[in-house]
Amino acid sequence: MTGAVTGRFAPTPSGRLHLGNLLCCLLAYLSARSRGGRFLLRIEDLDVPRCPQRLSDQCIEDLRFLGFDWDEAPLYQSTRTEIYQKYFDELSAMGLVYPCFCTRAQLHAAIAPNLGDREPVYSRACAGLTQAEITERQKTRSPAMRLRVPDEVFSFKDGHFGPVSENLARECGDYIIRRSDGLFGYQLAVVIDDALSGVNEIVRGRDILFSTPRQMHLQKTLGFDSPSYYHIPLLMDANGRRLAKRDRDLDLSALSKVMTPEQILGMLAYSAGVIPENRPASLEELIRAFDWKNVKRDDIRLAYNPQAAG
Ligand SMILES: [Zn+2]
Repeated sequence: MTGAVTGRFAPTPSGRLHLGNLLCCLLAYLSARSRGGRFLLRIEDLDVPRCPQRLSDQCIEDLRFLGFDWDEAPLYQSTRTEIYQKYFDELSAMGLVYPCFCTRAQLHAAIAPNLGDREPVYSRACAGLTQAEITERQKTRSPAMRLRVPDEVFSFKDGHFGPVSENLARECGDYIIRRSDGLFGYQLAVVIDDALSGVNEIVRGRDILFSTPRQMHLQKTLGFDSPSYYHIPLLMDANGRRLAKRDRDLDLSALSKVMTPEQILGMLAYSAGVIPENRPASLEELIRAFDWKNVKRDDIRLAYNPQAAG
């Protein structure tokens, strides 16, 4: 990668930020800033009813409390529908989009044995409908729109995880880029936003590692460059359980009452391997200390136990 780094953090404000989100933000921030790069904030509030303004404001307040800063006004996905529509129309004009009228029950019945916790591959039941059939079905049901994916392997070298490849048609299948209620899908919005904002480095959790080949296909199809990717291990609690939204004692409303910003940052940085001991640390110190080589490659266990602390 040549030129300056532009990184980003892109939270979905459907609840209060928890430590797993904050770890992603911290590593994305440190990775960009430690090389003099830019850092952007994007609020992924596409699903407006689930992401009210109040929670977006809270999210920004939490990030500021910890000392994070960003180089442009935050981007709100909820304001960008026309932009997504333009690229959606481009994909349609290429013949890559088709309506899917399947109900949840039909999708469920058609499922072949699925691949672990991955989403099932769509059967393409609606891929060959004639225009007459589409017109008829539209009278009773508004369709989701799916993107046709190629029988092609997409490979990339993740900066932290290592090599990843996926055959889109066989392992992912045609996926929804606009829901039946008209909301644009996550994959499409993310690809467009990152490209138009000049983001060239993406640090995020491994739970969405397998979104990347789909996003690379979209980037290629729409004529965008692919950024570099760093998928970080998931954050586990002190007992080795995956953190979840239900862990209210690990969200910022609880933590900010018992810890300073520097204690929270230092504890997260230590948990991830960025610094060698668990002590309070400012973002400036962590920027100087940061090196991807030190970031843990397996699950990251949180060096904090609210039960023990309380
Ligand atoms: Zn269908």
